Amino acid sequence: MAELDYRILNNLGSDISREFENIRVTVSRLNNSNLIRLKKNAAFQSSFDKDRNQWYSPKLLDLFFEKFKPNKETKILFILDVDAYSNGMNFVLGEAFHQGGLGAIYLPRIKQEFYGLKPDNELFYKRMIKEAVHELGHIFGFNHCPDLLCVMHFSNSLSDTDFKRKSFCSKCRIKKPIF
Ligand SMILES: [Zn+2]
Ligand SMILES: [Zn+2]
Repeated sequence: MAELDYRILNNLGSDISREFENIRVTVSRLNNSNLIRLKKNAAFQSSFDKDRNQWYSPKLLDLFFEKFKPNKETKILFILDVDAYSNGMNFVLGEAFHQGGLGAIYLPRIKQEFYGLKPDNELFYKRMIKEAVHELGHIFGFNHCPDLLCVMHFSNSLSDTDFKRKSFCSKCRIKKPIF
């Protein structure tokens, strides 16, 4: 899996803490030995679909759940620079694990260059924070929201992501499920 600039991740960490008060955000990178072990793992290898050239997100999340063991106090969001798909979806920009505790966002399709366009770091970052807050929202028990501007609105396409804000709408904010 490709490596992201640490400064971007640190910014992401502080932007996330702004949306989730009372939660401590730690940004960490898989160390090399963990990464090597993961790459040798049979379940990890079989999560990649060679024909589609995409990772099967549910299987990755299963594996991460088993390996990284999130718990009541610790939730994990994986930020992966790989393209992924899921059940009934040609691609996913992110997905939360069905049993809770963790989720992932997948970066290639939020980059303009994926569509043959000029790279736009600012737009990339905006999309990344929205996707991150959205999946963390699911991890913390939020469902999809009908408000088009709410970060918990389901993005059927990138234009939905670009339209919505990175924050919870006032209705979602009142609900505050777990935190
Ligand atoms: Zn969602
Ligand atoms: Zn909402």
